[in-house]
Amino acid sequence: MVVGKHNQPLCVLCYDPIPKGRADMNHVTCIPCQEIEDRKNPQVHTVTIGFNKGAYQYVHNPDDLRTVHKK
Ligand SMILES: [Zn+2]
Repeated sequence: MVVGKHNQPLCVLCYDPIPKGRADMNHVTCIPCQEIEDRKNPQVHTVTIGFNKGAYQYVHNPDDLRTVHKK
């Protein structure tokens, strides 16, 4: 859950405020983003979306790994 000023819950995708009633139901996205995500992943709902998004960040280029580990 992303939280802004005055503990206002914010959408994890676009950072627009989420209506309180919606946040209380453990939604972490605003309604427009939810609709987009539902279209992309019809089987995925609510809180898992943010984590799935992170998990999709694969490293495709072996050179990127070397860059990441270099100091
Ligand atoms: Zn949103």
